[in-house]
Amino acid sequence: MNTYDAVIIGGGACGLMCAVQAGFLGKRTLILEKNEKVGAKILISGGGRCNYTNLYSTGSNFISENEHFSKSAFSQWTVEDTISFFETYGIKGKEKTLGQLFPESNNAKDIVKVFTDLCSELDQEIICSAEVNTVEQKADGTFQVSFQYHGKAKEITTPKLVIASGGLPIQKMGATDFGLKVARQFGLRITETAPALVPLTITGKDAEWYAQLAGNSIFCRVSNDEINFEENILFTHWGLSGPAILQISSYWKPGESIVINLLPHDDITGLIELERKRNGRKTLLNFLADLYTRKFAEALQKFLPVEKNLASLTRDDLNEIDHLIHHFSVKPAGDKGYDKAEVMRGGISTDELSSKTLQSKKINGLFFGGECVDVTGWLGGYNFQWAWASGFVIAKQL
Ligand SMILES: Cc1cc2nc3c(=O)[nH]c(=O)nc-3n(C[C@H](O)[C@H](O)[C@H](O)COP(=O)(O)OP(=O)(O)OC[C@H]3O[C@@H](n4cnc5c(N)ncnc54)[C@H](O)[C@@H]3O)c2cc1C
Repeated sequence: MNTYDAVIIGGGACGLMCAVQAGFLGKRTLILEKNEKVGAKILISGGGRCNYTNLYSTGSNFISENEHFSKSAFSQWTVEDTISFFETYGIKGKEKTLGQLFPESNNAKDIVKVFTDLCSELDQEIICSAEVNTVEQKADGTFQVSFQYHGKAKEITTPKLVIASGGLPIQKMGATDFGLKVARQFGLRITETAPALVPLTITGKDAEWYAQLAGNSIFCRVSNDEINFEENILFTHWGLSGPAILQISSYWKPGESIVINLLPHDDITGLIELERKRNGRKTLLNFLADLYTRKFAEALQKFLPVEKNLASLTRDDLNEIDHLIHHFSVKPAGDKGYDKAEVMRGGISTDELSSKTLQSKKINGLFFGGECVDVTGWLGGYNFQWAWASGFVIAKQL
């Protein structure tokens, strides 16, 4: 078998960027990828369009035990670097909402093609259908990597090993706990992992109320003690989804409530006062149906005297309405789990890695990048920005 400067485990966003950047620096790498093709998650990302970075990405869009850890990587590989890298290879970005950048072609395949073309140009080898089972460090410091290739056991030795095998979400797309396993094997600490950017479930007596609203979407401010997000929420048959819910899910812990402000940029009491001067006979139901959907207004019947007309609402009614609209409290039963999560929260502790190189402080030659590290981005292209940046940083060390 050929020799390589490094073996990269995982042909996802981080592994592909790492191989290409190493190639630019004259290094030769081998990517071992479990799936039949590389870039599975890139292909499904952003609904097949790939939100590949965010124009406003800063350190505060990432969750980690050490919020400063990612600064070094993001200063070495900036959002502008991502944009100009893809532009160089024919992909112009188009901003959708909130700084989210997508390829103008709206096709995630174009992103993957940049990497597969470059890997072949730069002689970076990719072996697909190759699931790595174990890695061992030998006495001379090199790593022996054992993998299954079309049912056959294979081995390769490498001086440097890059773990870019991703996080736990979506097993059927190739996700494994391999990165966490390797970390444990080498005695590296792992911070608690959990599904993130994930829909939240409602069970019990309230479940039916949410289910009847499935498909309704409302612009809200969703908050907990730590943070708030202003985007849409979406009612579903099993609870709540939509961007604002996915965002808060990364900060939510089982047993906690979240508070939803259903009218974040207005004051409901003020609006009612105004409207009742104009048309006091209007029912609260019709008033709410104008603000939201009729279905949602009807569902609020469970909590509010919607049949009353605006003129007859008492001070207590107004207080009740104000509280419900601006402080709608929800206690999710749980989340939809790794099958529906976009990302994993937690992972290999940043204490274990050099922030400058992403090399293990304990094990020379061992690097971790991408989602398996305890750096989790918000929804909106941030997670790819971390994957590209971490792949780039590691490549410089190979
Ligand atoms: C539905 C969905 C949509 C998303 N949309 C976006 C988006 O629009 N924008 C954004 O920024 N982020 C998005 N994300 C998150 C983003 O896809 C990930 O954060 C990113 O792919 C992580 O890159 P990575 O290289 O660390 O891991 P991955 O891209 O997951 O790559 C890891 C690779 O390692 C392989 N692997 C695992 N174990 C082994 C093993 N033992 N041997 C060999 N290979 C192995 C896997 O098959 C996989 O190909 C989305 C995620 C999902 C699930």
